[in-house]
Amino acid sequence: MFTPTDPGFAEEVAAFNLSTQHQPDVAFGALDAEDVATAVKWAAEQGMPVAVQSTGHGASNAIQGGLLISTRRMLELSIDPVERTARVGAGVRWKAVVDHAATFGLMGLCGSTTDVGVVGYTLGGGLPIMGRKYGFASDHVIAFELVTADGTQRRVSKDENPELFFLLRGGKGNLGIVTAIEFHLFPSEDIFAGGVYFDGQHAATVLDQFSRWVDTLPTEASASLAFLRLPDMDIIPEPLRGKFVVHLRYAYQGDAAVATQLLEPMRQCAPFMMDATGPLESTQFDSIHQDPDQPVPARERGFLLDRLDHQVKEAILRHFGPGVESPVLMAELRLLGGALAVSADGEDSVSGRDAAFSFFMAGMAVPPLAELLPQVYDAVQEDLREASSGSTFVNLHGHFVDAEDRDRAWAPRIRERLKRAKAEVDPNNMFSFGHVVGLPVIDQTVLLEDVVTTGGDAVPGN
Ligand SMILES: Cc1cc2nc3c(=O)[nH]c(=O)nc-3n(C[C@H](O)[C@H](O)[C@H](O)COP(=O)(O)OP(=O)(O)OC[C@H]3O[C@@H](n4cnc5c(N)ncnc54)[C@H](O)[C@@H]3O)c2cc1C
Repeated sequence: MFTPTDPGFAEEVAAFNLSTQHQPDVAFGALDAEDVATAVKWAAEQGMPVAVQSTGHGASNAIQGGLLISTRRMLELSIDPVERTARVGAGVRWKAVVDHAATFGLMGLCGSTTDVGVVGYTLGGGLPIMGRKYGFASDHVIAFELVTADGTQRRVSKDENPELFFLLRGGKGNLGIVTAIEFHLFPSEDIFAGGVYFDGQHAATVLDQFSRWVDTLPTEASASLAFLRLPDMDIIPEPLRGKFVVHLRYAYQGDAAVATQLLEPMRQCAPFMMDATGPLESTQFDSIHQDPDQPVPARERGFLLDRLDHQVKEAILRHFGPGVESPVLMAELRLLGGALAVSADGEDSVSGRDAAFSFFMAGMAVPPLAELLPQVYDAVQEDLREASSGSTFVNLHGHFVDAEDRDRAWAPRIRERLKRAKAEVDPNNMFSFGHVVGLPVIDQTVLLEDVVTTGGDAVPGN
């Protein structure tokens, strides 16, 4: 247990997203489910709100006050290679699962980086690299172990607490703290994947070709296109350093010859600077998107798109095309559809099933860029409003500005179900931080602004 003046407090509450500085009254590092249950019961006695963090990758809004339970020491991991299942504790990152599963020729459905936590990612649906082939990660959950607001430990599966099982798959941290999760694994063989980098001057051609190409892809193929303004830093390979590039990401499972043939129309559409596609081990998944592997101060916004038509392409080029000075480091179109469009057993709370693309923007939340980002995000969102369902995929929603914005992560019908379940298992709204339904937003935006505009030294409220 740490209070703000204790040594170790800052480390305990630190988030991967450096622009978010959590300021709980108390932090607690849990070792197991029993610890989580004890901490939750203690908070209930104090009438204290409770937040949970494993890696802080999803720390888009800061926590102010209350108890923050850190699960990062809950590193239980076991794999049953015969049943092709995994069981992981709440602090396990995807990298540990991917590496261990690979020794059995298996893989889990991780996303663009294996640095994120399995539990936080999966509770938000979990949009995987191989999503169009297998669907969302949450489609393949067997069971959750959950501590609810009264400190009770419950097993949640299709047969045990089925309403909670429905809602936890995509419902994020609304209903309690998940201490462990069990899920299916898949064969990791025959993956062809990687990225093709085009000079940004060809952005219009590449985007146009991408919009037609995606319609030809089978469900075995997943793809995204990112407009990247890469910093002039040593960590970026020389031909790309300091450049504006368009990055096609591609992943296919099956015959490598088919994978190559399918990719060809994109490779041919414009001269590329680098082609890093080829046969890939699942342990190399991080090389596809090349997401940052060190903590960064980021401010992000995402929403779902119904189409990629002429108007959408025009708007994207207007904001992110060649010659545009943009503070946005990455603007990404991720193709949905395929198995992502169908819920594994007909029902869950994942949004994005009926959308065509996820659109996601990220920028460095450092002065002076931090002040520009919200305006740019608002302008892009307004320009894409007609093609947007108005809803978001909760994992890629980014920083939310108010309760209405936060609510866009769930369709009204699901939101009502989440509220009803929350009234039952969390009647005093103990789990009131982050992406939760129907609660007022604590003044977290002010905190974030304070932090980013002063380079991270601000004390909230000063
Ligand atoms: C670089 C990067 C790439 C990403 N790529 C993808 C991607 O490809 N696909 C995708 O779907 N998402 C992606 N994400 C989003 C990521 O899945 C979410 O941010 C997710 O919340 C991270 O979970 P975490 O536990 O690591 O983060 P944390 O910040 O520790 O947790 C985030 C939230 O998850 C919930 N949560 C975490 N642990 C628990 C728990 N034990 N019980 C209950 N609730 C809990 C809480 O609401 C918490 O506030 C990406 C994020 C980053 C930063």
